[in-house]
Amino acid sequence: MKRILLVEDETAIADTVTYALRADGHEVRHCLDGGAALQAMDDGAFDLAILDVGLPDISGFALCGELRRRAPLPVVFLTAQASEAERVLGFDLGADDYIAKPFSLRELLARVRVALRRATPPAHETPAAPGGFAHDVEGRRIRYHGHPLDLTRYEYGLLAALLARPGAVLTRAQLMDRVWGDALGSGDRTVDTHVKTLRGKLRQIAPGADPLRTHRGIGYSLDLD
Ligand code: CA
Repeated sequence: MKRILLVEDETAIADTVTYALRADGHEVRHCLDGGAALQAMDDGAFDLAILDVGLPDISGFALCGELRRRAPLPVVFLTAQASEAERVLGFDLGADDYIAKPFSLRELLARVRVALRRATPPAHETPAAPGGFAHDVEGRRIRYHGHPLDLTRYEYGLLAALLARPGAVLTRAQLMDRVWGDALGSGDRTVDTHVKTLRGKLRQIAPGADPLRTHRGIGYSLDLD
């Protein structure tokens, strides 16, 4: 089962696409516009995005760039006009595919399968590991320079949140929200304490690297290069 982000402002199209993808065994999150899609992306990771080019608040092309700044993601565009399809191919968006409306659901499902397959590295290949990190999202495991990290639930959550946005500064409040959610009785010091133990574990493996950066008074970032 793959998690698919569908961004389409025409509900009739979105409903049939959602139904077909779910029947094909996928989990679907449908958003009506780019703003909602970015929000959804911040809530969790997706395996693939299907983006309508003509969205009410932002073009599907611009949205693609924004989504990819957050995480690498295969993208299939839904286009309404031939000129849009040309732009998908003409611009170097790194789009994995496009489908011109009107399309058959069978065609859509076939394209989605191909894009997902292309995005999944063959089992024998080591996935690219920026900064020495290899994140197995499904297994909730992170390897660092080839060593599996033995992390507590919250250390894992912190590192996963930072890994999802390399280089971006996440505030303590954002990290609290993402990692601890509604857990009661935790404060700002909670984040700092767990960052400290996490940093210790990373240093044990690569003493000189120190990718976890403290931004005083703001929060933390993970620098991968
Ligand atoms: Ca549209």
